[in-house]
Amino acid sequence: MVKVGSAIILVAAVVMLLSLAVSAKKELHVSPKTPQQEQACVFLLEGTRLLEAKLFFKARKPLEQAATLWPESAAVHYNLGFCYNECALYDKAIYEFQRALELEPKMTDCLVNIGSCYQVQGKTNEAINWFKDYLKKNSSSPDAETVRGMIRALQKYDRERIESDPMEQDYLQSVSDHGLVRRWPYHRLPLRVYIANGTDPSGKPVNGFREEFNYLLLDALNDWIKASRYKISYRIVTNPQDADIACTWTDDPAFLQEKGNKVEQGVAQVMTEPMTNSSTFKSIYSAHVRIFVLSRDSGHPLTTDEMRKTCLHELGHALGMAGHSPSNKDVMFYTESSSVWPALTKRDKATMLRMYHEYPEMPPHPVQ
Ligand SMILES: [Zn+2]
Repeated sequence: MVKVGSAIILVAAVVMLLSLAVSAKKELHVSPKTPQQEQACVFLLEGTRLLEAKLFFKARKPLEQAATLWPESAAVHYNLGFCYNECALYDKAIYEFQRALELEPKMTDCLVNIGSCYQVQGKTNEAINWFKDYLKKNSSSPDAETVRGMIRALQKYDRERIESDPMEQDYLQSVSDHGLVRRWPYHRLPLRVYIANGTDPSGKPVNGFREEFNYLLLDALNDWIKASRYKISYRIVTNPQDADIACTWTDDPAFLQEKGNKVEQGVAQVMTEPMTNSSTFKSIYSAHVRIFVLSRDSGHPLTTDEMRKTCLHELGHALGMAGHSPSNKDVMFYTESSSVWPALTKRDKATMLRMYHEYPEMPPHPVQ
């Protein structure tokens, strides 16, 4: 018996990063009948152990060996598909999940995993079709409601987004608010930023918080400031009441249920000033970033890279980005994805620069 986590599906909605996990764990049964299949099982177990340890690149080789030795095993193809998905090799992952499904038609969660592979590539319609296919076969399964929620989130995203080319130099159009750029007005600079030292909005210490998170958040902020070529600047304040951007943490799972979302890793609430007829920009007057410090599926504190990605993404919203990038490489991609690296891409940087391009450059402000 081999245990393996099934693919985690992640969807993000406008101004918040949320994820929806479909069946976090799954049991696969294998019964080898020949010495060659037994040998394949040794590789399968080794690969599965590495998958569970999140060593996805290392898991690839033993799982591929298992697939060569035992090509008729749905379990082998399933785990190899999971591995490819985590390595951001989506076409290969889709092929493996399809093989698993051919060999074992009851393995219908392959349909959801295939949908998720399309989804992280921005192929929304394909993803929705696979999710619908899953619902047809599993209308009363425990995760059916989650899959329905995922379809609704994707359809909403598809309606709201302004088409922009993932190959363009920036994605300003996609992150505009009804065609208007949302940003901090010049007279509000330098922005006053408050970072709670491991406490939630009520001041209570947060379980799973590491001091490192403060620095990751600050690094993420500095990365965006640099991307703007110092056209925006900030100073740290020690009282949340004085802050333009207040950043707090949370370990409360109830946070995940807010706003009708199944799961969120972070939320950036951004308040804008009322519009006038002559407005060509939407002016921000306050932002509150809240970050959930625990992993949605394991419950463990986020890893350094996971936290870095979350901070970059949510601060991108707090600095004005009202939507998401259509490219699965950008930090502002609408879905949490293994294809996103915990660093700003050229397009992330170019977009931030375009939002503030006519502001005069300021000298880098010393951090207090
Ligand atoms: Zn987002």
